[in-house]
Amino acid sequence: MILLPCPWCGPRAATEFAHIGEVSARPDPGSATPAQWRGYLYLRANPCGWTRETWYHRAGCRRYITVERHTETNEVRSATPAGMTAVTGTAAGVAEVPRAAAGAAGVPGGQDGARAGGAEIPAGGPAR
Ligand SMILES: [Zn+2]
Repeated sequence: MILLPCPWCGPRAATEFAHIGEVSARPDPGSATPAQWRGYLYLRANPCGWTRETWYHRAGCRRYITVERHTETNEVRSATPAGMTAVTGTAAGVAEVPRAAAGAAGVPGGQDGARAGGAEIPAGGPAR
């Protein structure tokens, strides 16, 4: 059983949540090519390892959260409200900066930074 630590409700079974998908950066609508839109809409990195995902707590607080989860072991190392970006590397632990302060728009499950694991999908599609 996967336990997801909802920031508002505490640890809950994953069955209470809807898995929205990997967090990926939305391309600029003014300059994105069709290939970039196709990659954003349909292609996923699907890594075997750590990834950042958006989940919706449908049987709880009905809010979106961003979860950092290992896809092989289902270990969860962070869960933050969607729209927040975790900042690591401080001596005091993990601090969080609101996305608006980081200069990005607040779209749930949307523009939350680069793909997890640093895996970028090339414009022509994933390698086979
Ligand atoms: Zn919740």
